[in-house]
Amino acid sequence: MHEVSIARNIIEIVNSYLPATNNVSVKSVKVKVGAFTSILPDALRFGYEVLTCGTNLQDSILDILEVSLKVKCNICGSISGGEPSFLYCHSCGSHDVEIIEGTELNVSEIEIFN
Ligand SMILES: [Zn+2]
Repeated sequence: MHEVSIARNIIEIVNSYLPATNNVSVKSVKVKVGAFTSILPDALRFGYEVLTCGTNLQDSILDILEVSLKVKCNICGSISGGEPSFLYCHSCGSHDVEIIEGTELNVSEIEIFN
């Protein structure tokens, strides 16, 4: 499953930001997931839970912020929303558009217990 390897990457990123002392408990991890990544948030959350079980990240919450898709028209410059399978400018109808939001997949915040 695609999401399990992504969950593994997220865990590696989180661990790389934690201080070297082992006493840190992570409360929550916020990730931004763009609509264009076709990642299923539920599957990602499940993969994260399975992989963190019994580790330093057990019981931390994976907080997923879904970022919707936005495109910018190369003809008229308008910005429109869209579906990953159907990209066009809502103002002039052009298909010459560039994706400006919705492809991200990143860890935006790590909250730890004091
Ligand atoms: Zn346009």
